[in-house]
Amino acid sequence: MNPSLSGLRCIRCASLWPPADYPEGCPSCLEAGHPASLECLYESSAAQTMPVPVLGAVTLGEGDTPCLDAPALAQAEGVGQLWLKCESANPTGSHKDRMAAQLVSRARLAGATRVAAASSGNAGVSLAAYCAAARLEADIAITSNCPPLQREAMQRFGARLTAFEDSLSRWPHVEDLCRNHGAFAGTNYLNPPVGTHPYGVEGYKPIALELLETCGLPTDIVVPTARGDLLWGIFLGWQHLLQSGRIARLPRLHAVEPYARLSRARATGDARKIWDGVTDQYSIAGGTSTLQSLEALSRSGGTPVEVSDAAAAQAQQRLERMGLATELSSAAALAAVSRLRRSGLLDAESSVVLIVTSDGRRG
Ligand SMILES: [Zn+2]
Repeated sequence: MNPSLSGLRCIRCASLWPPADYPEGCPSCLEAGHPASLECLYESSAAQTMPVPVLGAVTLGEGDTPCLDAPALAQAEGVGQLWLKCESANPTGSHKDRMAAQLVSRARLAGATRVAAASSGNAGVSLAAYCAAARLEADIAITSNCPPLQREAMQRFGARLTAFEDSLSRWPHVEDLCRNHGAFAGTNYLNPPVGTHPYGVEGYKPIALELLETCGLPTDIVVPTARGDLLWGIFLGWQHLLQSGRIARLPRLHAVEPYARLSRARATGDARKIWDGVTDQYSIAGGTSTLQSLEALSRSGGTPVEVSDAAAAQAQQRLERMGLATELSSAAALAAVSRLRRSGLLDAESSVVLIVTSDGRRG
């Protein structure tokens, strides 16, 4: 472990906790019925380029993904600059590998022999791969409509799969494995949900540094979002760069969602409700949101953006005509730019990064 990891702080009540595993987030807030993520604190963090909890983590070569300048798209959208951060270039084809590297490495250091998770897509495949690399067992709870290629990929990496009728019914199974059978939590299992294990989410922080080094400090970053691990992790990266004096302001982080969840949660200030909807944007589906998503939006000054399946499909075709394969939910980030431009939040001076979370190779 990183010897400078000094503790964790609740993002809701600011209580402090010693370094340990908190897959259910802040114990105090959980008891009060408000699941809330913890964020890692490091001693003399300013001196560190980008601190993460596990040093020398298991790796399959994740991170340092390409960031493509897309001037034609920028011109078409009426913004100053537009970049595509291609997280699809990670070893199993999605951003999840960054989290899996930290999380699975921590599981092994903590003495766990198995990781349990609820996922019917990229997270399950990524955790299965990193568990194989770390020689840990993986138990993945999937939904019965899990795409065959996702299911097959998890099985090829040796994961044990259990199928459930719907998304929410997977969580009690994972909860039982983690609380009663010694499994290490690879995803949330609470309802209402909390962010994934904070050590895993820290794995997304280097995205901020990679962006700063390749395209400078953008004004806006657009992130496809379900329960907000990626959104919050990228925020934590920029927050570190701000606190260590590398940048003078934060970029705004915007959350793309297929139907109103965060926008409604933001209006009430409560992320615990379920707002279900139907969508083909498989990787960001589901009716739940999290406090960490709301915090990433409010602390960075960003906004939720609803993108319909039709608008996402149109954006997907535009990207394909440029030679870029994207998952529908990743293409939704491009459609979100048009919406943000129309609402006046983006203009000709904006420099915008789209996080292309996956190429959809197993969709
Ligand atoms: Zn708390």
